[in-house]
Amino acid sequence: MQKRALIFDLDNTIYAVRSIGDKIFAPLLELIAADDEQSLQMDKIRHEIMRRPFQMVAKDFNFSEELTSKGIELLSSIRFDGEIEPFSDYEIARTLPLDKFLVTTGFTNMQQSKVTGMNLDRDFKEIHIIDPSSSTKTKKDVFEDIIKRHNYASPEVLVIGDDLHSEIKAALELGISAVLYDKMNVYENDIPVPRITDFAELADYLG
Ligand SMILES: [Mg+2]
Repeated sequence: MQKRALIFDLDNTIYAVRSIGDKIFAPLLELIAADDEQSLQMDKIRHEIMRRPFQMVAKDFNFSEELTSKGIELLSSIRFDGEIEPFSDYEIARTLPLDKFLVTTGFTNMQQSKVTGMNLDRDFKEIHIIDPSSSTKTKKDVFEDIIKRHNYASPEVLVIGDDLHSEIKAALELGISAVLYDKMNVYENDIPVPRITDFAELADYLG
């Protein structure tokens, strides 16, 4: 079906977290490395911190309650000052003449500083930051709300993101089509959705 709306993820979909990650997460990684239980698996933790919301990483690696709450406290105050370079092919996505929505999970201050750092306000009809430290909402809730308020049929919407367990899963549960944007080439081929590595390929999925 002809698409009317695109819903984008932010981190590792519009820009590479790695491009700002070492700087932005330095104090957090220092905090984790000072923890005896976690210090031995820093490589794995660093990798996940660049990819997924902190609360989920903390849970998966069994961070203590104290380490988790210290991490949350630290991250809620961090913002990135300066410009951020989006992926070069983002320019193609940016100019598509459809309604575009940005839905991202993370700390409000930090996510907002990224939106500002890439001047994304001009590109999106709506920008939604879901902050797990102050909200129990999920991406699925927000997608559902967008569809209802704008009277889209589910098949008229396409979700684009890099996380199979977050936005892609939420989309499929709602009957929305989804495309995995795998710029980092981290996924094997046996995934349940089409995979693109460049926004030029999006044209094939717009109806
Ligand atoms: Mg992402």
